[in-house]
Amino acid sequence: MRTLILSDIHSNLTALEAVLEQAQGKYDQVICLGDIVGYGPDPNEVIRRVQGLQPVAVVRGNHDKACCGISDAQDFNAVARTAAAWTREQLPPDNLAYLRQLDAGPLPVAGFQIVHGSIRDEDEYVFTPREAGENLQLAQVPLTFCGHTHFQGGFALRDTGRLEVLRVRIEPGVGFAEYPVTPGVKYLINPGSIGQPRDGDPRAGFAFYDHEKPLVEYWRVPYDLEATQKRMKAAKLPEPLIARLSVGR
Ligand code: ZN
Repeated sequence: MRTLILSDIHSNLTALEAVLEQAQGKYDQVICLGDIVGYGPDPNEVIRRVQGLQPVAVVRGNHDKACCGISDAQDFNAVARTAAAWTREQLPPDNLAYLRQLDAGPLPVAGFQIVHGSIRDEDEYVFTPREAGENLQLAQVPLTFCGHTHFQGGFALRDTGRLEVLRVRIEPGVGFAEYPVTPGVKYLINPGSIGQPRDGDPRAGFAFYDHEKPLVEYWRVPYDLEATQKRMKAAKLPEPLIARLSVGR
C-alpha cells in the first residue's frame, strides 16, 4: 500500500499537474494536508482536480478557512489577505461549500494521522525541534503528516527522548529521497509544499508513504512556474507572491 501525500497546493494547477504526472501509477490512495487554495491563480481548477482524486482524507488549512469565510484572515499579512479576498470572489457556491465542510485535524487514517499545522493546533507552525518535540509527546500514533510551513522534512522522537531533525536533500531535476520509518519512533513528516515552496527549492514538493516497507519518499519535481506566474499577473495577484515562486522562499 502506498499513499500519495499532497500539501499546500495553494491554487497552483501547473505545479499540481506536474506532481500528479510523476506520481501516476505509484500510489493506491491520496491524502491532502490542506491549503488547497490561497495565493495562486487556479482555485476552482485545483479544488476540482483534488476532488477528482477522491482522497481518503483531507484536512483544512488556514488559507482554506480564510478563503471560504470560516476565519476572517485578520492574522494574515497584507498580500495573503489580498489573495484570500481575490480567491473568495472566484469561488462558486459548490466550491465554497466544499472548503467549509473540510475537517480540522488531527484526522486519523489507517496507519497514521494527518494535520495541517500541528497535533495540538491546526494553525501552529512547527519549525523548531522544540515545537516538534512538544507535539510528538502528545501523539497517540507513531506517524503524523503535517503541512503549513512549506518546508519539506520532518522530525523523529526516539523512545529515549532524543529528537532528530530529518534533513532532506534531493538531486536536481526530478528526484526523491527515502527515509525508513522505524518502530518505536514517533514521526512528524512534512511532504513540502506543491504550490509555494519556502525551503529554498522552487520545485514542487510532495511525498509518498510506503506502508509495508515502511518508508517515506520525499520528492521534488520542477514545473513551468512562469506559466503560473503569468496567470497570477493576469489576475493582478500581489507581486511578492508572484516573485517568490522563482526562488522558493
Ligand atoms: Zn500553506
